[in-house]
Amino acid sequence: MKKRKYIIGVDVGGTKTASGVITGNGHLVGKIVLPTCARRGRDVSVKQVLSSVSAVLERTGIGKKDLKGIGVCAPGPLDPKRGIVHNPPNLPGWDNVPLPAIIEKKFGVRTELENDANAAGMAEMIWGAARGYKNVFYVTVSTGIGTGIIIGGRIYHGKNGMAGEGGHCTINYDDTGGPCGCGNIGCVESMASGPATSRRLIKKMKKSGGKKSILYRLSGGDLGAITMRTIADAARQKDKLAMDTIKEQGRILGIWLGGMINVLDPGIIVIGGGVSSIGKLIFDEIRKTAYKSTVNVFAAKTPIVPAKLKSDVGIYGAASIVM
Ligand SMILES: [Zn+2]
Repeated sequence: MKKRKYIIGVDVGGTKTASGVITGNGHLVGKIVLPTCARRGRDVSVKQVLSSVSAVLERTGIGKKDLKGIGVCAPGPLDPKRGIVHNPPNLPGWDNVPLPAIIEKKFGVRTELENDANAAGMAEMIWGAARGYKNVFYVTVSTGIGTGIIIGGRIYHGKNGMAGEGGHCTINYDDTGGPCGCGNIGCVESMASGPATSRRLIKKMKKSGGKKSILYRLSGGDLGAITMRTIADAARQKDKLAMDTIKEQGRILGIWLGGMINVLDPGIIVIGGGVSSIGKLIFDEIRKTAYKSTVNVFAAKTPIVPAKLKSDVGIYGAASIVM
């Protein structure tokens, strides 16, 4: 029998759903990106997911018999073992949707489900920055902070499939920056995500007037328009406020990662998401602080590196769980 050599990775997000066909050695043969149409409710958005799979099969000309499986990653909370997407805040109307079973029924191909940060960590281990490692702590820092724990080459799910919510560890119990999306106070997500960092910088600019900062010009005088990308651009132009803000973000992440090293003693820490593209400025600060904040005397040898898989990490991540 001919070996089935292709995998479909489906990355379901609040705004877009991307499906891609990947070979076993990590070559992306083709992909399709459709709007998820999340606001139009569950039936429409589930249909968009199915359409993206049909469309990518059509585009690449690959038949079902050549498929090893379909992997789906979606925002949590979800149950990877039972294959149920519970009720992600950015997929309104989704209430205990058995997405893999729906896909399997339509295409007749084995389908697996995983949360997006776990899946991205797995993809980094198979094709990305953590190749050759078996114990990996994966972090994504963008609008939120997601994490995935890989132990002995496998995703650690915990008893209820809910492990790896490392972004919601409280690191400052009397933080005044407002509650986290999860309802707690002082989670690392609510202190060091992209939006949290922009908010802190905007506050400082309002206090000082901030007209000297390049950021004032980059945002056209509209402080509300400042995002992590604007701050990174300003830091590249050596703007002091932007550089200080990024270093502070690095220190917060470093303190938290020091604690994560205490718990996990991982072989490598991979950081993805928008923040990972800032580069040396933030990574130097993260490493310095993390190694100082842990009791693990060997921690300075733990590599903390940027993710390798960039914009298609969701597709790779989803495909990796079928590998
Ligand atoms: Zn939280």
